[in-house]
Amino acid sequence: MIHFPVILSAPSGGGKTTIARRLLATRKDLGYSVSCTTRAPRGAERDGVDYHFLSRDAFEARRRGGDFAEWAEVHGNLYGTLKSEVQRVLDEGRHVIMDIDVQGAKAFHAAFPSSVLVFVLPPSAEVLRDRLAARSTEGPEALALRLRNAREELRAIEDYQYVVVNEDLDRAVAQVAAILDAESARRSRLRALEDQVAVLIAEIERGLDGVPHAAAR
Ligand code: 5GP
Repeated sequence: MIHFPVILSAPSGGGKTTIARRLLATRKDLGYSVSCTTRAPRGAERDGVDYHFLSRDAFEARRRGGDFAEWAEVHGNLYGTLKSEVQRVLDEGRHVIMDIDVQGAKAFHAAFPSSVLVFVLPPSAEVLRDRLAARSTEGPEALALRLRNAREELRAIEDYQYVVVNEDLDRAVAQVAAILDAESARRSRLRALEDQVAVLIAEIERGLDGVPHAAAR
């Protein structure tokens, strides 16, 4: 099978990171692309695991060097997907799951048309606000900025092929898993399909040798 990138986007607090983590913990056919960011680490976040935390200068240098498959400024910080990360996961024979914003998703899809775009919707504005407030470590201004940006991010939903409402986490995870399975079965993603079908036809024909033809239907 030909492996492909899967992009999860949602307004901050939409739950996409949790969904990605759950899938990564349960599916061996998935790997995570660790992005670069200029924002400071939050809580227990680890460099090289959650993000590659870079200074603005270091980020700009990598951007100029053509290292990013896409990059964007989100909530005042720079974020970018490394081409090398995407390639590393694909080379391991896994789909690449990516948690990127709506601008990045659009740019990435233009460069990699085989990628699958999933928008994770919060069930209500109230739930979104509560989730953001509960995990907000950056003060009320950052919270307000993320809420304002959420409005714009929601308007980008038309660029996405799939929408999952994250009301119940288990159900949302199961839905993204179902999308992955369905996309994996797309004819265009099956490697050597023609050869496989040719072998099947040859075997059927061998089995038919010597069997009288049935009357035409
Ligand atoms: P956070 O700072 O909460 O981890 O992420 C903020 C936003 O940046 C989220 O919408 C997240 O999806 C997005 N983001 C994370 N990594 C990337 C990336 O590599 N590229 C882009 N374009 N957005 C990213």
